[in-house]
Amino acid sequence: MLRENLAAVEQKIDAACRRAGRSREEVTLIAVSKTKPVELIAEAYAAGTREFGENKPQEIREKYPQLPDDIRWHMIGHLQRNKIKYIIDKVCMIHSVDSVRLAEAIDEAAGKLGIVMPILVEVNVAGEESKDGIRPEDAEDFIREISVLRNIRVEGLMTIAPFTENAEENRPYFRKLSNLCVDIRQKNIDNVSMHCLSMGMTGDYEVAIEEGATMVRVGTGIFGERFYPKADAEGR
Ligand SMILES: *Cc1c(COP(=O)(O)O)cnc(C)c1O
Repeated sequence: MLRENLAAVEQKIDAACRRAGRSREEVTLIAVSKTKPVELIAEAYAAGTREFGENKPQEIREKYPQLPDDIRWHMIGHLQRNKIKYIIDKVCMIHSVDSVRLAEAIDEAAGKLGIVMPILVEVNVAGEESKDGIRPEDAEDFIREISVLRNIRVEGLMTIAPFTENAEENRPYFRKLSNLCVDIRQKNIDNVSMHCLSMGMTGDYEVAIEEGATMVRVGTGIFGERFYPKADAEGR
């Protein structure tokens, strides 16, 4: 099942790259394994997957020691400052930075370890009340402000597009984020390299790739539906 799912996603990524005249190497598939057991993650690993995404520090902390250490873990969910310590030595990138205080706390934790943590700035590109992320019009100033922090490195932008049955509805948001990324790249801000665009999930990753995504975060499409205990039905 999982191998078939992975193959189907790979095929769709290939096709989207071809439609957009992009090379497959430009797009990284992140397998979003939140709520899924290590046995299933190990299966995806055996099938060749090395990039995994999780949205809870505690889950990364638990799974990390049980799985091969050449896995690249991506922190893609809302991050509280007091949880940074659980993941700072385990993840290759934090996709969800949306406040100066969070950026400063990551910088401090990375500094203690003597590392530079790649981060993405989360942008609420559709202006949804319920979503985290900074406003598109604030992105440049925000990035300038945190670019002075020497133990983090801004590598691009991330967004969680609205939930929709029709992926085409998200195309304008993906295009907007892509344009914003290009605009900020052209400013050549010191210590900032805007080469990553993390956008697109199971329902809309093909459209996201057509609009320039360099990282797509696919959960359900690889691992199947997620089941949450009632108290946590929101999916976060
Ligand atoms: C859960 C999650 C995903 C994957 O969602 P699917 O629709 O299952 O592919 C992607 N990005 C973030 C930030 C998530 O929390």
